[in-house]
Amino acid sequence: MRFIVEESLYLSNRTLSLDDRTHEYLLSVSVDESVLLRELREQTAAENQFSVMQISPEQGQFMALLVKLTGARRALEIGTFTGYSSICIANALPDDGELVCCDNSDEWTAMARQYWERAGLQDKIKFYLQPAEVTLQQLLDDSLAGSFDFIFVDADKQNYPLYYEQSLKLLRKGGLLAVDNTLWSGSVADPENMEPGTRAIRRFNEMVKNDNRVTKSLVPIGDGLTLVVKGFE
Ligand code: CA
Repeated sequence: MRFIVEESLYLSNRTLSLDDRTHEYLLSVSVDESVLLRELREQTAAENQFSVMQISPEQGQFMALLVKLTGARRALEIGTFTGYSSICIANALPDDGELVCCDNSDEWTAMARQYWERAGLQDKIKFYLQPAEVTLQQLLDDSLAGSFDFIFVDADKQNYPLYYEQSLKLLRKGGLLAVDNTLWSGSVADPENMEPGTRAIRRFNEMVKNDNRVTKSLVPIGDGLTLVVKGFE
């Protein structure tokens, strides 16, 4: 009996890896996905061969919670794809809030723009169809440094270090940066895996680990979500 108690205590310290049944249960008691978001998720899965890039409903809901928790009014998303995360973020902002979206795929974001209209979010979202580094520089040139409350990065992994530095400039002190795919399906932990994407994420994770300007946590939700709070200095 004693052994069982100790074992369960040990297990409770670790993040549970979810089997299908437990995952279904988690969704059933905690996820409240709108009809529109569900439709967007299903349409993306049916029509886009890269639909795996779409965030999960539980991650979308978690990010909406983070947006509310930070009391964000101005948010930025780097990498919009077909729009799921942008709708979660924009909906969580107050009525006078604003979300700036960056993506360079006209094709993928066509679906996003359609759903923004349907969700009545077209006036809340400002979309830039060009490489994100151009938009980020433009925002800095427009004196918007230190003005964003919440930033979500989910774009080309090679540029993560660049997006990270630019985002830290754009964030206000105490603002929250969320960076997606930082566990990269677990491949980052496989020393044999030297794929460019894997190496880029490893480099990024080391960079965040050694950055004393921020408070951070890598949350094992979805494909790994690194949360970084910009320090007050
Ligand atoms: Ca992602």
